[in-house]
Amino acid sequence: MTIETALIEIDPNGDTLLILHNPDEPFAVDSSFEPWPTALPQYWTPDKQQEEDRLASSALRVLTNVEDAPDIHMRISSQQLLPNMRYSSLLRTNQWRETKAENGYSYTMTAKGWDKDALTILMHIIHGQTQKVPHMVDLEKLAKIAVIVEEYGFHRAAHFFGKAWISRLEQPLPSSFGRKLLLRLFVSGVFIDEDAYEKLTKIIIYESRGWMHMLDLPGTGDIATSDELVTSRCKLISGFISSINSLKEQLGEEEKECSFECLSMSLGALMKGLKATGLDNLQSQVDWEENGNYDGFSVMAIEKALSDIRMPEYHQSLHHDPNSSLDKTVAAETTGSTKPEGSHFTLKRNCSLEMKIQSIIQMQLAKMEGTKPWPVF
Ligand SMILES: [Zn+2]
Repeated sequence: MTIETALIEIDPNGDTLLILHNPDEPFAVDSSFEPWPTALPQYWTPDKQQEEDRLASSALRVLTNVEDAPDIHMRISSQQLLPNMRYSSLLRTNQWRETKAENGYSYTMTAKGWDKDALTILMHIIHGQTQKVPHMVDLEKLAKIAVIVEEYGFHRAAHFFGKAWISRLEQPLPSSFGRKLLLRLFVSGVFIDEDAYEKLTKIIIYESRGWMHMLDLPGTGDIATSDELVTSRCKLISGFISSINSLKEQLGEEEKECSFECLSMSLGALMKGLKATGLDNLQSQVDWEENGNYDGFSVMAIEKALSDIRMPEYHQSLHHDPNSSLDKTVAAETTGSTKPEGSHFTLKRNCSLEMKIQSIIQMQLAKMEGTKPWPVF
């Protein structure tokens, strides 16, 4: 079987033959992809599920016919290439060798699987042929370029264009977890787009339910990020649970905050609510790593589940204790404001289980912070 090999002349006088085997292999696939388990499925919206299903099916795409794709040859210049790349990546993979002079090339470099256009664009950049570099690329193409940049260390050479392409992306910054978010995160990491990186990692902390999917994208920085994100998520969940436990204790104490009736009903409603949502078995753990990293639980679902806990309607008509210490504090705080005088308003406000839970949620979510990309050069 003879296959026509295409030659792309980047530099007609170039001394190096770049051979690309299996060009345009399916991108960002991962045969070991495992979907996250789903605890609290009632708080998982169908559109998020759809997004995850899309991510799984794109990661697990079957690689078909890639072996038959003909090689691409590029004539390039070692003088342009070598100063722009991380030489160790060539040595590591044994992709670079000297060749006999008779075929017209002094060196041969081999690569596999890259997107042909992405590689061509980078070669144009490295050879200073900026007029041939596209003004805009879409997210998928940009990620394909970024993978090659990361692999060979072309960061410095591609930095300017990377920033420009990011600023001209038509797709908005993804607002929920999925393949687009992962590609955009990867691109932001390679071209150091700090703002986007922080926003996207924050979404991952909020929505993820396990280890971050890497889609076989290269880069040690991202692996460290994945660790960090799991830790942040687990810390938040642990914080939620220990705050709720403190609230339980607080409500169980002898009539410190309000009347027996009020506290009993609040505590009962909280316990029943936790049981109904399935959160009653979740422990606040210091060593969550040994206990499975809260697999299946997202901060988002926990927030929604806690927000669903309700007091019975007639709680307001109960006997509340106006002399309890905490009520006085709250009453004192509200005196002098535009709020009506009298304890009824303050009591209702202070005794509301929903508001106590909301303030726990706000306190925990305020701690949520995205991470910064790792500078590579
Ligand atoms: Zn009360």
